[in-house]
Parts: sequence; C-alpha cells; structure tokens
Amino acid sequence: MKPVPWVSVGAAGDARAGVLHLAGHEVRTPTFMPVGTQAAIRTVSPLHLETTGSQIVLANTYHLSQRPGEDVVKKAGGLHAFSGIKLPILTDSGGFQVFSLDKKEVTEEGVTFTYEVDGQRTFLSPERSMEIQQDLGSDIAMVFDECLPFGADRSYAQASVGRTTRWERRSKAAHTRPDQSLFGIIQGGFWGDLRKRSAEEIQEIGFDGIAIGGLSVGEGHRAMCDVLDDTLPHVNKTQARYLMGVGRPIDLVEGVARGIDMFDCVLPTRHARSGVVYTTTGRIRLTDARFRKDMFPVDTDCRCYTCSNFTRAYLHHLLRVDEVLGSTLATIHNLHWFATFMDKMRNSILEGSFESFRRRVHEIYPEDTSAKPVASYPAIGQGQGVKRSTNPSSAGPNKAGPKKASPAKTPMGSRSNGPAPKPPFKGRK
Ligand SMILES: [Zn+2]
Repeated sequence: MKPVPWVSVGAAGDARAGVLHLAGHEVRTPTFMPVGTQAAIRTVSPLHLETTGSQIVLANTYHLSQRPGEDVVKKAGGLHAFSGIKLPILTDSGGFQVFSLDKKEVTEEGVTFTYEVDGQRTFLSPERSMEIQQDLGSDIAMVFDECLPFGADRSYAQASVGRTTRWERRSKAAHTRPDQSLFGIIQGGFWGDLRKRSAEEIQEIGFDGIAIGGLSVGEGHRAMCDVLDDTLPHVNKTQARYLMGVGRPIDLVEGVARGIDMFDCVLPTRHARSGVVYTTTGRIRLTDARFRKDMFPVDTDCRCYTCSNFTRAYLHHLLRVDEVLGSTLATIHNLHWFATFMDKMRNSILEGSFESFRRRVHEIYPEDTSAKPVASYPAIGQGQGVKRSTNPSSAGPNKAGPKKASPAKTPMGSRSNGPAPKPPFKGRK
C-alpha cells in the first residue's frame, strides 16, 4: 500500500510543523536525517541510533550499488533487514555522487562514469537508479536528476533543467514499487526563472514529495536562502519539502523559516569523528587541551547516552588516543543534539515562539560558523529573557559526577538548573 503523504499540524509564517507517514512510521517534521552512506551510521550501531531520537536516515544508492551490490541487499530482504536499521530509510538517486566525479560523460540516456574504487566504467540512468533503489527497498526513493556544479553557466543550466525534467519523467515511469514513496527534485542552479520552471515541470509530473537539489555545493548561506526564496513560492504547500545536503544550524532554521520539512547532511557525524560537538551554547572541539581535566558532560543541557554517562575529559582522552569509542560517543551526542534541535524548533512553531528561537540560533550559530562567546545567551529552547547562571571561574569540577538524565523542566525539553557550562569559545572571536 502506498504510504500516506505529509500532513500539516501547525505553522508559524511559512514555517511548518507536520507529520510524514511512512509505512508504519510517523516522522515528525521538520526533521533532520543522519547520513548512513554504506547502510550504517559510521561508528554507531542501530541500537544506539534509536536512542538519539533520529527518526529517518539516508543511505547512498551510488555506493551501495557498487558495494555490496543491490542484489546482495535484495537477497537479505532489503536495506532494513540487511542493516538492522528499523527507522525509515531514504535513498538518494546516486546523481549527486556521480556528478561530483571528474571523468563522466552525460548524454540524454544517462551518465557513464568511472567507479572510483575499482576503475570500472559504470552507467547510471533514471531506469537503472529506480531499479537499484527498488531492490534496496528504501521507504523513500529519489528521482535521478542532474546536479549542477557551483558556477555552471546559464546555457548549460538551461539545457540541464530540461534534461532533468525528462529524466524525472522516466524515473516515475520506471518506478513500480507500491510500498516506496518517490520524491521529485527541483534543479535550476542559481537562476530564479530556471528554478521556477523546474518547480512547475517537476510538480506537473506528480510525486509523493518535492526536494530542492543543487545546493550545499559551495554557494554559502545567503545564496542558499536566495534560491529558497526564488523556488518555494512555486512549490505546493500540501507535500513534504526536502532540502538536500544542508545541515548547519543556521541553514536548518532558515530553511524551516521558508517552509522546508526535511534535511540531510554529513555534518554532525563527520564533525563528531574529529571531536567537534554541538552544544546549546555553541560548537566545541573536545580535543582542545582545555578539556583534558574537564569533568562536565559534553553539554550540560543534553540528556543523551554520552552526556548521561561520560565527561568531556573522557571523550578528550579517547579522541586523542584514536580510540574508536571516542567517535562513537561524540556521534551519539551530535545526532541526539540535532534531533533535539529539530524537536525544539518544531515545538517553537506549534507554540508561537519560532521567531525568538530563530534569533537565538543566529546568535549562537552565526553565519560564519565560528561561534562567538555566548555565555550570556539563553540556551536554544529556553524562554526568551532567561539568562544562564554562568560563572565559569567558579564552576569547578562536577563533584556529583556526570549529569544524570532527568525529566524536562520546560516544554521544549531544555533544562536550566544544570551546572553552569564553561563558555565554549572563550578567547576566540
Ligand atoms: Zn549529549
């Protein structure tokens, strides 16, 4: 049976809160999808993944078709059975990876490219992408499109929009799996009229949801917002809208402010493995020497498995000696932080406080991503005007040991009575 599409449950301006129904799962939107390229979230088991509050994950068609091959996944009973991931899974079409390769030949039929692992010439087309994704058995498949490089000229972009529309029409014709949703993708580079044209053509074909592709290719925050402003007025309001490859906090909140429901990005998992973690007062790098004897949890406002059981000093140690558990614990925290961040954003839409939430994200995670000292700002999710009781010099070691999980004290799940955190970016601009 075809899954029921997205349903709105509230709005604040153009920002929307909704529910996406996927084969037995209800995904609350706006939502962030962690990336499990090889049908695994790197360093994290499905068991721990479920504790992070993540609701849906992304897997990569291009990589899985090469290794282990979709025939192996199909024989295992599909991606869920093969990987043990019980959450809904979205697969991309493979287009983004293929178009990021140097040696490729694009024709009306599809793309021929050299697989980077074994040097074999490989062919990907709308029909082939649908065949792979239907064998993988994801809950949401994506159409095969052409992802334009940043800086593509207008004449190429114009031709590409037409080709993408024809490829998406072929994708839909080749898609026959009734228990799998199919999302269309709007392209058009950085030209407003091409985005409008693509939006109209793609929606005319008719899909279960609409994605905006071709961003997160080096354009920067402002250009991303411009493309959304050019595109979204031409996208119907009744379907799920997915912004592909975008995941910085400021991009998430500005995407949601414009009416986006779904995001994916490698940022939280990739950053975690290098020791960079997100907190309600800014990003910190746990490998910095100042955390060597820091007996606070990663984020005093977080209730994840990592923050409930371990100190910054322990993670600092693990990451410095390259112990894989350091990456695991940091990844668990970051995924929990992103899931909670999206939940708080959703609640702010439902409770009428989205604009103050949005302002606090700009203060704590500004556009240039080099977070400034934020000790005087309220944590994201706390009520406006609630000052943190921050006194870093007297904070001292947490004699009670790592923070224990406790019930939420505010509607947004943020607690204000934990030990005062140290300013994470003291001495940095
Ligand atoms: Zn945590």
